[in-house]
Amino acid sequence: MPHRSLRLAENLYCYLWQGRGNNCNTYLFTNVLRGERPHVVIDPGFVLNELKEPCFDSLLMAMQGNGFKVEDIGLIINTHTHPDHCQATEVIVQKSTQKRGKRRVSQALVALSREEDEYYRTVGERVFSMFGMEVAKFEPFLYLVEGDLSLGKEEKKTDLQVLHTPGHSPGSISLYWPNNKVLITGDVVFYGAVGRTDFPGGSISVLKQSIEKLSRLEVEYLLPGHSTEYGTIIEGKERVERNFKAIKFLI
Ligand SMILES: [Zn+2]
Repeated sequence: MPHRSLRLAENLYCYLWQGRGNNCNTYLFTNVLRGERPHVVIDPGFVLNELKEPCFDSLLMAMQGNGFKVEDIGLIINTHTHPDHCQATEVIVQKSTQKRGKRRVSQALVALSREEDEYYRTVGERVFSMFGMEVAKFEPFLYLVEGDLSLGKEEKKTDLQVLHTPGHSPGSISLYWPNNKVLITGDVVFYGAVGRTDFPGGSISVLKQSIEKLSRLEVEYLLPGHSTEYGTIIEGKERVERNFKAIKFLI
């Protein structure tokens, strides 16, 4: 199965893409929200990639292997709106939609930054067509702003911080979990590499500032949006710091 699953904390699972074609890593906070749909997914990825690998089905199987169902996802956070990160957002919303008569009573909600939503509305179609794909359709329920994002119930409260980290995409966000020193970077930082800046709306100078900002955090686990030849997640404060030093030389 192309997704390798890894439990990083009691309620944080990593689904690391190891297929042949392109797809992003997906991260899942489990049982954090109130109500019937307690899971929060970050970057659900492609439905089908350029090699026609069934990325989303693979994700569902990997989640099922850990006892989680896609119908129980209540919130989808998109670090940015490139197709390899957000194409499956539309499908998760569909799968979680329940109707009573003509009224939609419950569905997974979508979150991203306002800047990224504007980018998606204006340039999204062009970016998807660069991948030879039709643009995925979804409506944001909430805009993520820089600052605290507290998920969930009292006893399982997960306090995250949203950081605006543009450059790869104009509204890219990263998520920092101070309690566990976890940083989810989307496509800003990888192991030994940085995200591309040649897509529409990309900027190397803006990316540099975002990397500078992330490098000031205390991080034990850096969870990037993709694997590289050097590996996937970066564990250990010193390795994370070394990686930031190395990539600052690159750009
Ligand atoms: Zn991207």
